[in-house]
Amino acid sequence: MCPRCGARTLFEGSAQLADTCSACGLDILSLERGGRFVGVLTMLLALVLIMAALATDEWLRPPLWATFLFWGPVTVASVVFALRFWKTMWVYHQYEESQP
Ligand SMILES: [Zn+2]
Repeated sequence: MCPRCGARTLFEGSAQLADTCSACGLDILSLERGGRFVGVLTMLLALVLIMAALATDEWLRPPLWATFLFWGPVTVASVVFALRFWKTMWVYHQYEESQP
């Protein structure tokens, strides 16, 4: 949600921040600037999930299709969720910093 007006305008895609709030015109893009480290965090998360998938594979030896069926959606959902979460935290943090 937009940190200024509370409208649900923060994301225009599943994990893509909007440039500006369409309700109050808050410049979200400039708040997000400098938040590029979220990409690094997401890479780390993906790495952890892949390691977990490999570990499960070693341990349970499930059929390959089961591994993909389970870990595919889990990885995608986790990454999208993490991106949204981190970006939201970052924008809110930046917004508070920018207040007098
Ligand atoms: Zn707004």
